Amino acid sequence: ATPTALMVGTGRGAQLGILIKGPEVLESTRRVNTVVLDKTGTVTTGRMTLHAVHTAAGTGEQELLRLAGALEHASEHPVAQAVATAAAERTGTLPGVADFTAVPGLGVRGAVEGHTVLVGREALLAQEAITLPAELAGAKAAAEDEGRTAVVVAWDGAARGVLAVADAVKETSGEAVAELRRLGLRPILLTGDNRRVAESVARAVGIDEVIAEVLPQGKVDVVRRLRAEGRTVAMVGDGVNDAAALATADLGLAMGTGTDAAIEASDLTLVRGDLRVAADAIRLSRRTLATIK
Ligand code: ADP
Ligand code: MG
Repeated sequence: ATPTALMVGTGRGAQLGILIKGPEVLESTRRVNTVVLDKTGTVTTGRMTLHAVHTAAGTGEQELLRLAGALEHASEHPVAQAVATAAAERTGTLPGVADFTAVPGLGVRGAVEGHTVLVGREALLAQEAITLPAELAGAKAAAEDEGRTAVVVAWDGAARGVLAVADAVKETSGEAVAELRRLGLRPILLTGDNRRVAESVARAVGIDEVIAEVLPQGKVDVVRRLRAEGRTVAMVGDGVNDAAALATADLGLAMGTGTDAAIEASDLTLVRGDLRVAADAIRLSRRTLATIK
């Protein structure tokens, strides 16, 4: 490809809402045959809202929301924002947090009002040998069957409740997946979230291959494995937890609405966060390179 044609392609990309790191990026885009899609914030809006609160026997809803909300107030995760916002609305000013730590892909931990509080996946609680009582496990499974992300709240060594948050599939995601298929790409949904939630989102947008409950390093491993199988892989993501996988893919595409870490790790940025533009990017590069032979 001549530098001039690639520069023209780059300019056309800007008009479509695609920021391209360098003209050479278009060359690798052309060979892509597999597209790995992050779920939260990529296929879904990532603007979550608290949908339901389930408490363990002996725990009050207000207390659960106050402690969980205080902790989540310190986190940037979409789940955290939903929990902190609802907790502030329903319980008033949230207490402060000490010793806050985020465990990527699992949840958060910190001290609130003298309690050691955990909010996140069941696997986070398992690290401290905390198990879910049957009534909470049932509430969690029921929420997940309805496509909701359910996180567990624990403090002082015991599970205290389950919070179900709801996210919505972006209106354009189904069409985007159909377009990616028309370009001959194989779409795969990849997420740290629960399998049942992931499958419900996949069904809604027409994806039949789902890899769920993976940690950020697991996302990198999935991309590596696909490349080792001889596939040329594009990855689309928005989160801090996607950055390493975006950098590992043959082509990394970041949502412009996502985190700086994802944008920096990527070759292309889809400025408006519209997944259909991922298909535009691949079409553009194929065309650009076809005209220069
Ligand atoms: P995704 O791959 O869908 O973007 P993440 O890897 O960011 O998801 O997170 C995976 C899961 O870890 C979430 O679905 C949630 O259950 C849990 N999690 C991560 N961060 C938090 C947090 N701050 N609060 C509660 N749960 C969290
Ligand atoms: Mg995400």
